[in-house]
Amino acid sequence: VRPEFDLISRIRALARRYSPELVLGIGDDAAVLKRPSGRWSLVTTDALIEDIHFRREYTPARLLGHKALAVNLSDIAAMGGTPREFLLTLALPEDFDQAYFDEFLDGLLATADASATILIGGDLSASRAGMTIVITVLGDCPAHQAVRRDGAMPGDSIYVTGQVGLSALGLSLLQSGVRLSDALSDLQKRALLAHLAPVPRLALGKYLGEHRIADAMIDVSDGLSSDLFHICEESGVGAVIFSDCLPLVIEARNWGADPLVLALQGGEDYELLFTVRKQKLPLITEVQSAFPDIPLTCIGQIIAEPRKMYLERQGHRESLEPRGYEHFRKAPGGASPIL
Ligand code: ADP
Ligand code: MG
Repeated sequence: VRPEFDLISRIRALARRYSPELVLGIGDDAAVLKRPSGRWSLVTTDALIEDIHFRREYTPARLLGHKALAVNLSDIAAMGGTPREFLLTLALPEDFDQAYFDEFLDGLLATADASATILIGGDLSASRAGMTIVITVLGDCPAHQAVRRDGAMPGDSIYVTGQVGLSALGLSLLQSGVRLSDALSDLQKRALLAHLAPVPRLALGKYLGEHRIADAMIDVSDGLSSDLFHICEESGVGAVIFSDCLPLVIEARNWGADPLVLALQGGEDYELLFTVRKQKLPLITEVQSAFPDIPLTCIGQIIAEPRKMYLERQGHRESLEPRGYEHFRKAPGGASPIL
């Protein structure tokens, strides 16, 4: 790659955008922003580490740029907010491929444009072990209207957008050697793209927040069972999932995968998981007609038993454990690396 300051100039040249709230962007010691009154700021950060979160070998550069921002936008969506600006911190191996970098930046800035989010700064460093991307997004929402994880109440219905388990299917296809450039079936392509290029549910999240339809919300990043458990823990409630209602990727069976396991434990779907009070349920019809292309599925109900989750199939309830991706989970028999 080029020297640090060439890279920063290139980023600056391509990224420079104006917004009424930006007083000073890339180029000084800090960015300077104005903030409208009556709104609350949202701040979130997420890292993508090579060989932990992605493999460069099967990740097209453009899609990596997109995904690095998209996973952060998804967190803003899950608060019911609007993303405004972001910071980009990169650590790159010294021999990093220039063309890969340029395409990465292209993909990233295209997604920034599509979400009206502007790059206002960051940092650059050399790396001894692969590429690290850390993005921090700043956003806002109307005062008092951030949709938190702790607002669920017994009797609420639980909803999820889209399909769950598609990204995990995509990952397992990639791991078994399937590539985006191969001749793919429609489903294979959708699965690979769900993993490589997830679409954050920004407009829907904002709608659910601003119309006060969701009382608790989270995005599905770790796996449906883990993410639902976060809502249960924070809200001091439990949940029942109706197995037959889950929007599963049934065709995953054709590849020897269990669609239910992919959905409950898979993660990285970046769909929204939210709860709705009984008296707000009629509003779901309006949400669905405002977003006709995003399936909304009622998958269960919040119960009073704290931290207890159940899976209900054919009238029979079994206990449901939170499972999903965990970075520092002890490998069976192995030592825990950090925690
Ligand atoms: P400092 O020494 O003050 O940290 P830098 O030389 O790291 O300054 O950065 C100079 C300017 O370039 C700053 O405005 C910084 O936010 C911006 N910048 C550095 N790296 C990036 C990056 N990866 N993406 C966007 N802006 C960056
Ligand atoms: Mg710096």
